[in-house]
Amino acid sequence: MTDTSQDTASLLEVDKLSVNYGLKGASLCALDSVSFNLQAGEAVALVGESGSGKTTTALAIAGLLSPNASVSNGEVRYRGKRLPIDDDTAMRPHRWSETSVVFQGAMNALNPVHRIIKQIAEPCMLKLGLSRGEATKRAIELLERVGIPADRGTAYPHELSGGMRQRVMIAMALACRPSIIIGDEPTTALDVITQAQILKLLGELRSQLNLALILITHDLSVVAEACDRVMIMYAGRIVEDGTVAEIFAKPKHPYTRLLIDSIPNPASGKRIIRPIPGDPPNLMNRPSGCAFHSRCPSAMAVCANEVPSLDRFGRERVACHLHRSLTQDDKVAANV
Ligand code: SF4
Repeated sequence: MTDTSQDTASLLEVDKLSVNYGLKGASLCALDSVSFNLQAGEAVALVGESGSGKTTTALAIAGLLSPNASVSNGEVRYRGKRLPIDDDTAMRPHRWSETSVVFQGAMNALNPVHRIIKQIAEPCMLKLGLSRGEATKRAIELLERVGIPADRGTAYPHELSGGMRQRVMIAMALACRPSIIIGDEPTTALDVITQAQILKLLGELRSQLNLALILITHDLSVVAEACDRVMIMYAGRIVEDGTVAEIFAKPKHPYTRLLIDSIPNPASGKRIIRPIPGDPPNLMNRPSGCAFHSRCPSAMAVCANEVPSLDRFGRERVACHLHRSLTQDDKVAANV
C-alpha cells in the first residue's frame, strides 16, 4: 500500500491505480498511479481541469470505464476486498449497492418515458429483492427524503425542474443503501440557488446516513461548501491532497495556488479572474518530468526531467520538487 492514509479500516482504498485508453491504435495514460483512501462519512473533492483524470478515477471506482479503457496497474478495495473494476458482470453486485453515481445532466440520465417513481422502484426490486409494492413504498420514502412530495412521483422527468430532476437522481443513487456516493459535477447545470440547495441536501444525507462522498468538480466554491478534503489532480496524477481548510489557507503546489487565484472572491475584494496560463498537456505525448513544468511560474531545471513523487507533509501530500528539495527552514523562508 502506498502512502495514502492512516489505517486499514478505510471504506475505500484506491491503490496505485493506472488507467489507459486505447485511441486509434495509440494508448493514452489517463490515470497514473493514483492512490488515496476514503473513510466512512468523509467528503472528498477531486478537482482539476478537463483531462486531469478526475472523472476516470470516479468511473474506475464504480466499474463504469468505457470498453476502450483498461486498468494497467493497481486496484480498488472496498472494506478491504479487491473490487473487480475491469469486469462489468462481476461488478454488478457491487455497483449501486456499495457505490453509486450521480451524474450531471439528470435529463440525460433519466428515462424520459417512465414515471420517476418507477425509475426509483426498479433498482429496489432488482438489487434489494423487494416486491413491487415494497419497492414503491421505498421509492416514496426516498422521494420525500430528498424533498420531493410523494404525489410528484407520477411525473415524467420533463415535467420536473432541473433541481427536482437532480433530487430524483440522488434518490435513485440512495435506493440500494450504498456507503459511497460519487457526484460527477452534480450541480454544474443548475442555477446558483438550486446548486446551494442540492449541496445542502447532500450534506444532510451524508450526516444522516454516514455516507462517504466523492465530489468531482472544477468549481472550488462547491468544494469549500461541501467537502472535508480536496485532492487536486493534474495530467492523471494527484498533485496535492489535504483538508479544505489547509489547502485554501496555504496551498503548497503551484498549480493549486493558480487554481485558487483563478476564482474571484468578492468578499475579499478580489474580483478579477486570473486564468492559468497555457493549456493542459497532451496525454498522448506526456511531457517529461513534472507535467506542469511548462506552465509553472516556479519551475526549476529539475522539473523538466524528474517526475516529483507525492510526498507526505503532516496530513497533506504534495508532488512538487519545491517541497522536496528545500529544507524545512528554506520552506519557511520561501513561504512554500
Ligand atoms: Fe512547478 Fe517544478 Fe513543482 Fe512542477 S515540480 S509544480 S514545475 S516547481
